[in-house]
Amino acid sequence: MSKSVIIIGGGIIGLSSAYYLQKEGHQVTIIDKSNFSGGASYVNAGYITPSHFVSLAAPGMINKGIKWMFNSASPFYVKPRLDTDFIKWTWAFKKSSTAAKVESAIPIIKDINLYSRDLYEEIKKSSDFDFHYERKGLLMCYQTDKVGEEEWKIGQRGIKEGLGVKNLSVKDVKAIQPNANLNVKGAVYYDSDAHMTPSDFMPQMIAHLKSKGVTFFENEEVKDIDVASGLISKVVTNKQELTADEVVLAAGSWSPLITKKIGLKIPVQAGKGYRINVNRETGITIPAILCEAKVAVTPMEGFTRFAGTMEVAGINHSINPVRVNAIANAAKKYYRDVDITEAEKTNAECGLRPCTPDGLPYIGKSSKCKNLTIATGHAMMGWSLGPATGKLVTEVISDKKTSLNLNPFHPDRTF
Ligand SMILES: Cc1cc2nc3c(=O)[nH]c(=O)nc-3n(C[C@H](O)[C@H](O)[C@H](O)COP(=O)(O)OP(=O)(O)OC[C@H]3O[C@@H](n4cnc5c(N)ncnc54)[C@H](O)[C@@H]3O)c2cc1C
Repeated sequence: MSKSVIIIGGGIIGLSSAYYLQKEGHQVTIIDKSNFSGGASYVNAGYITPSHFVSLAAPGMINKGIKWMFNSASPFYVKPRLDTDFIKWTWAFKKSSTAAKVESAIPIIKDINLYSRDLYEEIKKSSDFDFHYERKGLLMCYQTDKVGEEEWKIGQRGIKEGLGVKNLSVKDVKAIQPNANLNVKGAVYYDSDAHMTPSDFMPQMIAHLKSKGVTFFENEEVKDIDVASGLISKVVTNKQELTADEVVLAAGSWSPLITKKIGLKIPVQAGKGYRINVNRETGITIPAILCEAKVAVTPMEGFTRFAGTMEVAGINHSINPVRVNAIANAAKKYYRDVDITEAEKTNAECGLRPCTPDGLPYIGKSSKCKNLTIATGHAMMGWSLGPATGKLVTEVISDKKTSLNLNPFHPDRTF
């Protein structure tokens, strides 16, 4: 049965949901307060990440966060704040940081990642639109033996999960990256991963959806939702009031501001990250993570992107030049020939990752509201998990059996 669906938020999660909803015959409207040109879904590193099966809440992250709190150039930073939502999120994050919980999340994270990667490949093969997508794997590059050992331990866990992982010597790395002049001791290589160029994919997806009759309201902010008898009766924006059979909440880091209006608290904190684009030949052809510095490197369509930092410091888009410099310095430390210029640093942009305490997104309906499907909290994997989330959202709204078990992603779960 065809339904009218309003999607709040047009990042990768909102657009992917629209893609599958319109394919299923639903009438879709997307509302976004931006003009569809910036934010997390545009500045990300474009990795498709089956390799990222260990959640952010891995044991040890709390201690690292505390240690790094006093270092303004550190890659992970939590700003202490006297804010109830932040304090509750931090407590839930601490409770999720046990070896047992992180271990039990590994197959769940891996499966949804592989499923989503396959869906990207399906979209690529379809004649809907063409976009940059390469499956060249990911190098976890390290400069110290200690980190090399840690990474290989994780790699071996990946092999147990069925992923293709190899421990590469420095000679092996140089053989597959001959022109990158890498300064590393070795790398752990995952053949499961792929990469894309978000600034190429997003506008093409928007054009495709428009051609299929999806309605877009841009520069329009959802200010309120009215609920009557457990159903959203009205979506109120700064410009109009709208009604629909179903509503999808894909508002990224802003999602809790909307769920609060129906008395539902979903812990989400914004994790700010930065990107620097280098529009020159770098010789880099395989995506890499510079492990000690926690910087992601992606050879995108026509340029190389360096991205990094996880700053949990509330919702703001202020650029901290110290952190931008730290990313640029890491680039030079690992790739001897890459000198990021002042102009490239000045053009750095940032985006907010919507982070849940346990590293799993919220996908599905809350018991609080029968016609609201929540799709948010994808943290460091939102780009990767767009298609899987869109497909699952569509199955929920179409009353179909879901392709994956949604229990681990339940918006009502407690921590
Ligand atoms: C530097 C960096 C690197 C990253 N690298 C990767 C990577 O390599 N691979 C990966 O998988 N992920 C990566 N991520 C994470 C990924 O980018 C995010 O998880 C993903 O973009 C989140 O998508 P989203 O659609 O949920 O949220 P967003 O992209 O934030 O979209 C939410 C939208 O909702 C709109 N909105 C909010 N409130 C309202 C309202 N009230 N009314 C109307 N509109 C509203 C906003 O304007 C926004 O456009 C990275 C993120 C960063 C910052």
